[in-house]
Amino acid sequence: MAVGSAGVVRRLRQVLPADRVIDDRATLIPYQYDASFWSLRQRRMPQAVIVPETVADVVAAVRVASETGVPIVPRGAGTGQTGGAIAPEGGVVVSFARMRRVVEVDRRNLQAIVEPGLVYLDLQNVLAERGLFFPPDPGSGRACTIGGMAANNASGPHAVRWGTTSAYVLGAEVVLADASVITTGGVRSKALKSSSGIDLTKLFVGSEGTLGIFTKLRLRVQPRPPARAVILAGYARLEDTVASLDDLFEAGILPSTAELLDRSAVEAIQLWRPELGLPDGEAVLLIEVEGTPDQVGASVRFTDGIVRRRATVSRFAEDEKEIQRLWAARSGMAAATALAHPGKHRIFAGEDLAVPLTEIPRTVRAAREIGEQLRIAVIFYGHFGDGNVHTAILIDPEDADEVQRADELADRLHKLAIEVGGTVTGEHGTGAVRAQYMRAEHGDALDVMKRIKDLMDPKGILNPGKLYGS
Ligand SMILES: Cc1cc2nc3c(=O)[nH]c(=O)nc-3n(C[C@H](O)[C@H](O)[C@H](O)COP(=O)(O)OP(=O)(O)OC[C@H]3O[C@@H](n4cnc5c(N)ncnc54)[C@H](O)[C@@H]3O)c2cc1C
Repeated sequence: MAVGSAGVVRRLRQVLPADRVIDDRATLIPYQYDASFWSLRQRRMPQAVIVPETVADVVAAVRVASETGVPIVPRGAGTGQTGGAIAPEGGVVVSFARMRRVVEVDRRNLQAIVEPGLVYLDLQNVLAERGLFFPPDPGSGRACTIGGMAANNASGPHAVRWGTTSAYVLGAEVVLADASVITTGGVRSKALKSSSGIDLTKLFVGSEGTLGIFTKLRLRVQPRPPARAVILAGYARLEDTVASLDDLFEAGILPSTAELLDRSAVEAIQLWRPELGLPDGEAVLLIEVEGTPDQVGASVRFTDGIVRRRATVSRFAEDEKEIQRLWAARSGMAAATALAHPGKHRIFAGEDLAVPLTEIPRTVRAAREIGEQLRIAVIFYGHFGDGNVHTAILIDPEDADEVQRADELADRLHKLAIEVGGTVTGEHGTGAVRAQYMRAEHGDALDVMKRIKDLMDPKGILNPGKLYGS
């Protein structure tokens, strides 16, 4: 039974305390947006936002959505780049801003139980006090939530060695579309691995709030390596970076990171932080090694020796201050892009290609060419070690012609990723903006995804308009 906005809000107020239901238009405005360019243009307003404090609040809201047939959309910090946390068809947004507790850190069992609204950096700070860390490391870590990371299967530079969020979610408490609550990964389990039953945790991780809503997450955490060092290597040609990494693999070395700065990124960073003295050439890699201080001292020298075979320039930092200075250059990409293209704004569209390592040079070259044809500035960087190429598209959003060309660019980049044997998204997710590519990427497997969705959410209330293309 469909009911109007007023009816939905009235029902929410009947089942939730007044301070947990927001429906005044001014306060709803921020919920029209996430970081995607798509949300800037859609501006879809939810009918209400609820801010639960307990799982019972979430259950009550889902029950109202189920009874009234209105969409219900979970939201962490809204840093997503795909419109995932937006309600394009209206409905109720569930903001996890008040469910951000660390329920438990169990170092001896290498796990932590947290609420989904916990900000990534806050978790890392709590873990650091106990000598632990949570390996996935998104660049948005100061803001994004663990729930958003699990929903999108987020990751970052260290995924090369440590993997993505999916590898670190051991279990979850999930509210389903019919308002029932299940615990995946074993109701009482604190095991670090299991081969019992179908792995439902994996099904929910990466499903972007379309199959269920996380209200608790049991996370695998790791002992924090006590030392690290970073090699900064410059290469004459992109192909040399692939060969260099392969040299490391051949020598039995898997670094913790191998971050790529294409020459477009190096030029931008040079404008912003010239004192870093980044090398000339077509590409720079930031290669990190971790371990005990002794191991790191030996390993960075050994690794550097191999890197020098292909790099035109190589130097390394063992001092934590210098390491942080090098990483700051990488995380300052946003400031750097603004300096390199004054008057242009970076938009998040077509920004997250992941391709086989060996295809990175071809992909970057083809993407550069498409950018030139369409007269759009693009800066390339990314998590080279796992093939994740980020494309920073810079435009004047007020220029309708340029916006149209940027749309074409994003479309062609997505198609390029599939063509070279990659994926349209390495870590940011599908959301509303990439649903149209799911058929081309997944073929008939998409039909199975849709059947799972229909089974678990027959009324289609959980985050509709996302993920499942045509
Ligand atoms: C500057 C910048 C840098 C970034 N760098 C990275 C990066 O390095 N790596 C990376 O992976 N991503 C990156 N991102 C993208 C984004 O930060 C991640 O996708 C992040 O995981 C989103 O978290 P969030 O809390 O903001 O989620 P939101 O944007 O609020 O939501 C994202 C998705 O999660 C769903 N969701 C949220 N909470 C729940 C819940 N409790 N249950 C079920 N579903 C839920 C939402 O419905 C939505 O589909 C970056 C974004 C920005 C703006």
